[in-house]
Amino acid sequence: MGGTETNCWVGKTQPTKALGIARNGAGKLSEEMLASARKGNKPTMRIEEVVCQILRITKVEAKTASSQDAIIVRIRTDNGLEGVGEADASPEVVKAIIDAPFSHNVACGLRQIILGEHPLETERLWQKMLRRTMYFGRTSVTIAAMSAIDMALWDIKGKHFGEPIHRLLGGKRVDSVQAYASILFGRDGKETAEIGRRWVEAGYRAVKFGWEPMGTSEKVDIDLVRGAREGLGPDATLLIDAGCVWDARTALKRARAFEQFNIGWLEEPLRPEDVDGYAWLRDRSPVPIAAGEEECGRESFRPLIDRHALDVYQVDLSRNGFTDSSYIKSRVEEVGAKLCNHCYTSPITHAASIHWVSTLREPFLFEDCVEDSPLRHELTHEKVQAENGVIKVPDRPGLGVTINEDFVKRYLISESR
Ligand SMILES: [Mg+2]
Repeated sequence: MGGTETNCWVGKTQPTKALGIARNGAGKLSEEMLASARKGNKPTMRIEEVVCQILRITKVEAKTASSQDAIIVRIRTDNGLEGVGEADASPEVVKAIIDAPFSHNVACGLRQIILGEHPLETERLWQKMLRRTMYFGRTSVTIAAMSAIDMALWDIKGKHFGEPIHRLLGGKRVDSVQAYASILFGRDGKETAEIGRRWVEAGYRAVKFGWEPMGTSEKVDIDLVRGAREGLGPDATLLIDAGCVWDARTALKRARAFEQFNIGWLEEPLRPEDVDGYAWLRDRSPVPIAAGEEECGRESFRPLIDRHALDVYQVDLSRNGFTDSSYIKSRVEEVGAKLCNHCYTSPITHAASIHWVSTLREPFLFEDCVEDSPLRHELTHEKVQAENGVIKVPDRPGLGVTINEDFVKRYLISESR
């Protein structure tokens, strides 16, 4: 580790002088200095500011939907670039992990760890954040907070090179991907059928229903899936997301019962920690088994991949960033399984997801959250949503989205500075 690894900057903003960068009056580097820097003659750019913003709708309902609030992380560089990222976890917890002051060399808030660093060095910064948060991190929400930062750094990287992130990841394989409408079950089979009809009429050829009341009883579970199939008709792809409700034996029984409804996959039948159960189930299930949305980071995915426990690995960019999602992609493709995004939050993560999905060896489906929440649809000026069941891959630099500042002002409840 070099000097920057051991010298933690404890102030909120590291002075530009300390970074060895001369400024040009208005706080911007001159074109000449930038050109020189890019030739490797000077430090090019540095992370100067990391701001968390928590947005929340007024009336939050008790339901399994993370599109009712959001934490966005905005990273600014000393040469005027801004990248945005998002973590899908409890916004206040993520903010605390980023805002926390230095406490210990391996217990330090993420802002302190990355201030003054070069924003393009994403792999090194990922490893640095991992090491410097060991006493409270290594898993779960700390990795999600790191992912928001990583997403913002890749946005900066794209803007710096004037290229879309999919190109920096190695190149998109497609210009568009078939999307599935992702929505919650109705209260019973009848209501679920009505929901299904709505999204097929909206142009989707694949729909996923999830979570409650699945897991209530065998009768209720089968009624929900029967209703879903009735609503979609015989041709559309039906995906079922159980929401971690059964043990492996019950899940196998349900998989066999659901087979008659021709489901594309059975998602999260087991609790996320039950890797043995997933390996056992996948060996016996007549329908493909999908999971992975709870996993944060490459180490979290490792037992599932090593055991070949799943047919479809669902990776959430707001819990894995681009850095670890790329690593996970390579490992899953190595063992011959499929990949899909998980995404149930704002257009920032949707944009990140479509960049990543477009680079997969087999970009067969894209999860498109269709929750009716302003945070899902209005946070960015660009609408990141499928049209006629297909989502286009953006080609603008970085993530390709711009924040609607008026929207942020309206829904902002907390901000770090
Ligand atoms: Mg799910």
